[in-house]
Amino acid sequence: MNDSAGTPVLHARELQKWYGQGAGMVRAVDGVDLAVDAGETVAIMGPSGCGKSTLLHLLGGLDRPSAGQVLLNGRRIDDLGEKALARVRRTGISFVFQSFHLMEELTAVENVELPALLAGRSPRAARRRAEALLERLGLAGRSRSLPSTLSGGQRQRVAVARALSNEPSVVLADEPTGNLDSAATLDVLRLFEELHESGQTLVIVTHDARIAATADRMFTMRDGTLVDETRLTGGTTGRLGALVGLED
Ligand code: ADP
Repeated sequence: MNDSAGTPVLHARELQKWYGQGAGMVRAVDGVDLAVDAGETVAIMGPSGCGKSTLLHLLGGLDRPSAGQVLLNGRRIDDLGEKALARVRRTGISFVFQSFHLMEELTAVENVELPALLAGRSPRAARRRAEALLERLGLAGRSRSLPSTLSGGQRQRVAVARALSNEPSVVLADEPTGNLDSAATLDVLRLFEELHESGQTLVIVTHDARIAATADRMFTMRDGTLVDETRLTGGTTGRLGALVGLED
């Protein structure tokens, strides 16, 4: 969670990422400023190749910026050494990917408990939390199942449970419904709504306007920059709507 009131959970300052050199240089991320507050859901949309995944990877410490800074709860993470950065990725930030990235040889519960074990929790505590998360996400009966025996929507639920394993400050999701049929998309959409309502800070890259509509703020990305910001007052949680109502 956020240590001090008013400090964004996640803060990108003048973030840049270049690939290649000279005439062939690609400015994948070209000066992004973004502050995400505790409990906020931010959605980022935009055409393929505009830099969304690169931005998410920079925000989550999976990749290092060419220039600019990334702060998690007010502390810079872009200049950390590999070991410290790995610790941040294990405990402070977690990812949900389009293709789930589950370990196929591990059961659902083993996948979910893995980050907690890697972070040094006792096997008992890790298992208890993993079982509780799977139950919360409607998968109690499938905890001993291998990923290959689960539907796409169920796999993504396991991936979300795994992402929540260490109670991260922020969950970053990269096209979380990109590989799902429409029924499973609705299932995952509801799951993100629930996470939002529970106060989880979320950044979601998506092509799906229904997913983006669950956010408090939505950005459009073009050519490496965030060009448009929309505040969604009719968000599914109704929280912003309620705030507007209070001000009347
Ligand atoms: P999006 O997620 O919006 O589809 P990406 O972040 O994947 O966009 O890519 C943004 C731009 O950066 C694209 O032009 C892409 O080709 C380029 N790019 C991404 N990763 C690399 C890389 N590792 N090496 C070179 N160019 C890259």
